[in-house]
Amino acid sequence: MKQFQTAYHGKEAFRAAVSAWQSQRASMPAFIHLFSDGADPADLAAACEILDEIMPDVEYAGASASGCILDGRVTTEKLVVSCMILERQDSFIHSGLFSLENGDTASFREKLRETLRGLEKVKAIEVITTIDTIPIRDVCRIIQEEVPEGIPVWGGGAFGDNHFKAFLFKKGTALHSAGVLMTFIGGSDIHVQYLYVSGWKPLGYPLKVTRVDGPVLRELDGQPAYQIYQHYLRIPNDDHIFYNALEFPFAVEHENRTLLRHALSCDQEGALTMSTQIPEGSILHVTYGDPDTIMQDVMNCARTIADFAPDVISVFDCFGRKTFWGGTEATREITPFHQIAPTYGFCTAGELIRWENSMDHHNLTLVIAGMREGAGKEQKPAPARQETRNSESTMSMVNRLVNFINTATAEVMEANATLSLMAITDQLTRIYNRGEIQRRITERVEKNKERPDGENATSLVMIDLDDFKKINDLYGHQEGDEVLMRISGLIHEAIRRLNANASDGRWGGEEFMLMLPGMTREAAAAFAEEVRREIETLRFEKCGKVSASFGVAQALPDEGADPLVGRADTALYRAKAAGKNTVCQAAE
Ligand code: GH3
Ligand code: MG
Ligand code: MG
Repeated sequence: MKQFQTAYHGKEAFRAAVSAWQSQRASMPAFIHLFSDGADPADLAAACEILDEIMPDVEYAGASASGCILDGRVTTEKLVVSCMILERQDSFIHSGLFSLENGDTASFREKLRETLRGLEKVKAIEVITTIDTIPIRDVCRIIQEEVPEGIPVWGGGAFGDNHFKAFLFKKGTALHSAGVLMTFIGGSDIHVQYLYVSGWKPLGYPLKVTRVDGPVLRELDGQPAYQIYQHYLRIPNDDHIFYNALEFPFAVEHENRTLLRHALSCDQEGALTMSTQIPEGSILHVTYGDPDTIMQDVMNCARTIADFAPDVISVFDCFGRKTFWGGTEATREITPFHQIAPTYGFCTAGELIRWENSMDHHNLTLVIAGMREGAGKEQKPAPARQETRNSESTMSMVNRLVNFINTATAEVMEANATLSLMAITDQLTRIYNRGEIQRRITERVEKNKERPDGENATSLVMIDLDDFKKINDLYGHQEGDEVLMRISGLIHEAIRRLNANASDGRWGGEEFMLMLPGMTREAAAAFAEEVRREIETLRFEKCGKVSASFGVAQALPDEGADPLVGRADTALYRAKAAGKNTVCQAAE
């Protein structure tokens, strides 16, 4: 596999370049990519005409870009044409352009299936779509389902903005503003290795997406989404918010993978319009992009690709990265790959990657696919590190500070979790304290107030140890504590066996309260009877046997938590009056 490239600078020069490619190729299969960053439509048409004339049997396809890659550089050229020449007769590159102008994903699936059926030995697929004008999630799912497992799929979104609509085309078609261009690479000895990198790293607390409207992210943790940028990062809500927020995009955790998403703009209410819709309920982190950290990830990727010894490298680089680096400075993350093999590609509006059994739409990534025919030429030297501001130090100042923030955040989160648990736990017995069991009873009873029956029934069991004062008086407070701990342990174990939603708490000194959801008074009384018997069988070193009395009540329609507790208490009082060590049920 070989590659030749040129920027379009008029018919004459282009005709000469294409003629040279044609004589290089002789009769070998070839494929041509045309990427346009605002090229004059007349120039694009002229280039296609010349290709039709000089290489009539060669397929070509292309898309609109935000910066085309030429000679391993992100250039300002308006039209860049790359010609891949294959070196084995049975190698092939074919493209299919699937229109989605009418949003008909069922017919896309059908046509893709048909195309795949007609091609043997497909080894990899490069895909370019107009991301914003098609149902991208459905398209990704269809590709994942229809393309046989193990076949790499990578690519990106054709770029469009207010001046130029995103488009795709292939030989013989008009420009499509809604579609999927798939390039099928195959043959008996074609090999592909692909990877993607972001380089952005999480920073600080996890945040929950609490309100979303399509691509508009309204709230994080119940606060206007922009507050994160204002409060923690002091990014003003002005014309530069896109550029400033690009250094701190969001990493969204979704179905076991992390996808980067960045803000395009912010309105007066603090709602952020995002690069792609973020599902409500997802957890995200602010991330930070630091030139050194990003380049470290890029260089790791370049070393893996170098080991593969590709002939040609396909590059899809998010336009957001280009903006982050500052226009043609983005070249620094492409050059290491161009040192391995000739590159082609462009700066995209979103990237597409099939990875670990899922095809996803990413943002802010650099997607690299190395391709070769045969076993691989002699090993290329590992690419040289591109200089960044602090390349002499092993860990930059920014990285050290972020490490400080993340470590401090993790410690604070752990301390908060401990405090939250302490606030609801009784110190001595480790079961819920009065405040928490009371809160749970109220929540449950209020929720089912109208019809507290069947699954919505709630019964309470109030427990008071018998003659507990005597234990303290005769054997000391420590023995009393020991009794409380063992009995609460027994109760907790019984509750755990009974029902995952049942709760137990310490109501007072030697009093416990059980909340039993979905249980009638009779069932609760039977359970209380079991616990009573278990307590009776316990033996303590000093005080020997202990016993407890039980009051049981079931919530009535329209009854609040307080009257319900009152009835359980009255039942308990009756159990005491009846001679203790017994279970009494409340009257209705
Ligand atoms: P009855 O059978 O009528 O319930 O009699 P009682 O002695 O159990 O009732 P009373 O309410 O008079 O006594 C409860 C005692 O529990 C009083 C208090 O000293 C003791 N107590 C409360 N909290 C603790 C504790 O945390 N540890 C210990 N050891 N004793 C406690
Ligand atoms: Mg008591
Ligand atoms: Mg007591």
